[in-house]
Amino acid sequence: MNIIKLILFSAVLILVGCAARSGEQQGENSERSTSAPKKLVIAHRGASGYLPEHTLAAKAMAYAQGADYIEQDLVMTRDDELVVLHDHYLDTVTDVAKVYPGRSRVDGRYYAIDFTLDEIRQLSVVERFGLIDGVAVPVFPDRFPLGKSSFRVNTFAEEIELIQGLNVSTGKSVGIYPEIKSPAFHRGEGKDISAATLKVLQQYGYDSKDDLVFLQCFDAGELRRIHDNLMPALGVSLRLVQLLDTSAEYREMLSEEGMQTLATYVDGVGPSILLLVAPDSTASEVKATKFVEYAHAAGLQVHPYTFRRERNQMPPFAKDYDDFLRIFVDLVDVDGVFTDFPDLTVRYFESHQ
Ligand code: CA
Repeated sequence: MNIIKLILFSAVLILVGCAARSGEQQGENSERSTSAPKKLVIAHRGASGYLPEHTLAAKAMAYAQGADYIEQDLVMTRDDELVVLHDHYLDTVTDVAKVYPGRSRVDGRYYAIDFTLDEIRQLSVVERFGLIDGVAVPVFPDRFPLGKSSFRVNTFAEEIELIQGLNVSTGKSVGIYPEIKSPAFHRGEGKDISAATLKVLQQYGYDSKDDLVFLQCFDAGELRRIHDNLMPALGVSLRLVQLLDTSAEYREMLSEEGMQTLATYVDGVGPSILLLVAPDSTASEVKATKFVEYAHAAGLQVHPYTFRRERNQMPPFAKDYDDFLRIFVDLVDVDGVFTDFPDLTVRYFESHQ
């Protein structure tokens, strides 16, 4: 075969491949639009039940297990890069104290913001639930062993490229679910983490509510600033999610009126599961709070956290992981779940929807 024929043959193969793939995607989309809204599987820090959280390995595994969205917690480095880490300390999940002794602050913690990206790239990431004070955590007996294999901290851009790359190579459409961490802390350090996050999102094509991204934050004031100022200034409009926990600062948001107010600047809420069921619920009588009813009346999606298979991570009235999902998805009627175990959650949804 001469070289021209070979090139033509390759071009035909590529074109046929593209046609088949877009056909598949259309089929998938039309199927979704005719059925009930799909409940979302959101991979909490990746498939973090199986691999150290927020590593690219954990994200690839979540992708392969069929997650709809994959979560990124974001903090900034000294040289203004966004890295994917659950909190702005490096000492919980890396060997920073060994690699950079003496670089902690007076509180003894090692802050990501005191290190450059190049410095952070030298660190090894380890399993969060592997050891506490040198002792294996008995409540997480089956998590990835501490200190085994080799994992690194990655940037937000690298993780987006991984997920978008997999979307190309598999033909699937998996979304991202970034969380802006500690905006007030970052501001105190002279950095605008929200502006930096929006810039990266825009650079990678996330600029409208139709794009596969939810941007989440615990800080209500910051979400308002993103909604009222930052997004209009950039000409983008993304879906925002207010995170809530059981602390007093969120109490006002839990009322019917509070949810209506939330709906003026966010599209969804990410509550702790503890806000959705009454603590005196039992296996025979699960009592939902008014949370989901009020949220849905305000047009807000509800994506609670965190769904884990470990017995002591479930409410006592759930019999097992499937029952845990049944209670929150079928009875409480949430719209998606943050889970450390995407595979178990996908399996449940496939057999119950
Ligand atoms: Ca998070």
